[in-house]
Amino acid sequence: MIDYTQLYAGLQHIPALRTWLTSLPQQIAEGLDPQRWGDLPDWQAALDGLPDITPSTVTCANEVRAGRADDATPEQLAQLESQLRKLHPWRKGPWTIFDLLIDTEWRSDWKWNRVAPHMEPLENRLVLDVGCGSGYHCWRQFGAGARRVIGIDPSAKFVAQFYALKKYLGMDLPVDVLPLGIEALPANLRAFDTTLSMGVLYHRRSPLDHLRELRDTLRPGGQLVLETLVIEGGLGECLVPEDRYAKMRNVWFFPTTATLESWLRKSGFTDVRTVDVDRTTLEEQRSTDWMQFESLADFLDPDDHNKTAEGHPAPLRATIVATAS
Ligand code: SAH
Repeated sequence: MIDYTQLYAGLQHIPALRTWLTSLPQQIAEGLDPQRWGDLPDWQAALDGLPDITPSTVTCANEVRAGRADDATPEQLAQLESQLRKLHPWRKGPWTIFDLLIDTEWRSDWKWNRVAPHMEPLENRLVLDVGCGSGYHCWRQFGAGARRVIGIDPSAKFVAQFYALKKYLGMDLPVDVLPLGIEALPANLRAFDTTLSMGVLYHRRSPLDHLRELRDTLRPGGQLVLETLVIEGGLGECLVPEDRYAKMRNVWFFPTTATLESWLRKSGFTDVRTVDVDRTTLEEQRSTDWMQFESLADFLDPDDHNKTAEGHPAPLRATIVATAS
């Protein structure tokens, strides 16, 4: 469904990633298997029906934006909007495509503003974004100078959203999203200059293994940027909800920042620093015209927004940076 030949050609020139080419095409085929994703033909049809419009400008520096309304005819703009809406729900963004604002559930740009100041300068770096969703932060990293950005996300719909937008942001650019989970990466790659894992750790049943897998993606001295849900409290404390958290299933460990820092040191990282702790607001995560399902306001206790619907502490997110040893 998606043409990865340019990515494969690019990886030929990165010695540390070249060996991955022996397994990658098969892994991608499995990640986009129509047996697994029954709606895949619909997403493919949405992509195929996107109008061919050439944007006069593209930027990923301070926002992600392609083109202006007057680059296209009104018919093309209507077609663009109706095709993109077929990929509902749009969770991470915002995106502006020919002046059409895709107002996503999340203000991912706000997360980027919290994280980016603490990253090693991205110029010329090879970046891996684990659990990148539809790739919003991949584009921002490219906009900040990264040489090549590889995002991975096991959700094929997010991958389809990414390529719907890449059609306009630049099919030739070295930014890709692969339909894979972190477990698909070859062991001990030690290849990337920067690896991000944002919003993923609490979905991993075995968080220390996740941290070790992240370490193994990085070259020695490479930077990890880890963002996850935490709780307040001291070293050794950790919430493990028995059932849901903020109505999410598949949730496991919510450590304190002190606990998480110690996990990182134990997993082969040095210079471990918590650089931001932030309570998620109802402005940052909300239902919109482009994400019409429930959102944060529905996930909190209606009488006390300091608690989730289940009575756990409300979402508090930490960003931690660390260096791979
Ligand atoms: N990083 C983005 C998106 C976070 S949402 C951001 O911070 O805004 C978490 C993402 O992790 C989802 O898109 C989900 O599909 C993905 N994910 C879940 N399990 C994963 C795994 N095993 N490996 C990689 N990504 C995973």
